[in-house]
Amino acid sequence: MASFSVRFLGCKVSYTDAHEIRDRLLADGHRERSADAEVAVVNTCCVTHEAVRKSRQVVARAARSHDRVYVTGCGANLTGDAFNGVAGDVVVVNRRSEETPAFVAGDVGALACARHENRVDRVRAFVKIQDGCSFSCAFCVVPLVRGGSRSRSAAAVVAEIRRRVEQGHREIVLTGINLGCYRDRQHGYTLARLLREAGSIAGLARLRLSSIEVNHLTNDLLAAMRETPTVSPHLHVPLQSGDDRVLAAMRRRYDARTFLRRLAPAAGFQLTTDVIVGFPCEDDRAFRRTLSVVAEAGITKCHVFPYSPRPGTTTAADDPVPPPVKKERSARLRAASHRACVEHWRGKVGRADVVLVDRPGRGYGDDYSPWLVDAPVGELVGVRGAAVTEEGILAA
Ligand code: SF4
Repeated sequence: MASFSVRFLGCKVSYTDAHEIRDRLLADGHRERSADAEVAVVNTCCVTHEAVRKSRQVVARAARSHDRVYVTGCGANLTGDAFNGVAGDVVVVNRRSEETPAFVAGDVGALACARHENRVDRVRAFVKIQDGCSFSCAFCVVPLVRGGSRSRSAAAVVAEIRRRVEQGHREIVLTGINLGCYRDRQHGYTLARLLREAGSIAGLARLRLSSIEVNHLTNDLLAAMRETPTVSPHLHVPLQSGDDRVLAAMRRRYDARTFLRRLAPAAGFQLTTDVIVGFPCEDDRAFRRTLSVVAEAGITKCHVFPYSPRPGTTTAADDPVPPPVKKERSARLRAASHRACVEHWRGKVGRADVVLVDRPGRGYGDDYSPWLVDAPVGELVGVRGAAVTEEGILAA
């Protein structure tokens, strides 16, 4: 039996991948330890140059304090050589996410010991329903490191959600790289059907989608979201740019007008997004269009990513926008996003909501707005908005 620790960098899919490795090691009888573990697993990210740098830093730190480090995830698949020269026993696992837990467990040495209860130490659980992407956005390295889109069977997803709910999780977040591509063809499931079924599992308090491409925002999906009481009225829809020329160069599958049109039926949902700032052909005018599409769509939170060329992508060799310009545009967009969030929160003053407390003093309301509440972690509490702070809505 070995002791191990698992860390992840990056998105919710990276989190679920790391968790699957953790589950597998626990199932094999290994012990998780926050300090002094023999083995470390670092599930890395390569979505930007900065993400690779941080991944390397975490791996190097882990190699100093563990006997062996397994480097898994996107960073390991794209740029295994990023971890060359890290002192220590470092194994770079260049494999698909489905194969990685078994590989790591096999290497650590599967010891069929007593089974552990592998509850995630979080109030919400992330359940991966899909992996990979068959789109080909010009800037994106994900299809190169994760392969084409494939889906889990609906039965496996529903069984996992049931298990998580039995373990005490109140909220489930369905994750994937390109969720709208979800299909269980053999059993006739689309994302909308899966959502209806998953959202009806007894004991589940809240169900959310991690993100969805605007092209996949169908009437059927929106109807499923509105008609299933546990589904949160929140949509994270990546915009990336509000300028048609930039969108075309990015090889996104919509223009700004289409983006707005497809979001219109989602009135009443809280909308959040991802935006890349400083893409090669983005000038100030194009950037201003992004600001105005964000405002027109009624988007609150923008996750802003300064453009970073990734190896192997169409735009790998292009990065003409100077870093100070990217920085200045990022700051403008983040400031606009913060104003939109605060405005959204103000609309909740005097209104009732139900908050899932996910850490001391804080939690998220029905539409994933942040609340400041005084209640035990893990509780779902009825609240009423009293005031707005810079960090969220103050519960009365
Ligand atoms: S949809 Fe585009 S940005 Fe998203 S993972 Fe696929 S290729 Fe990357």
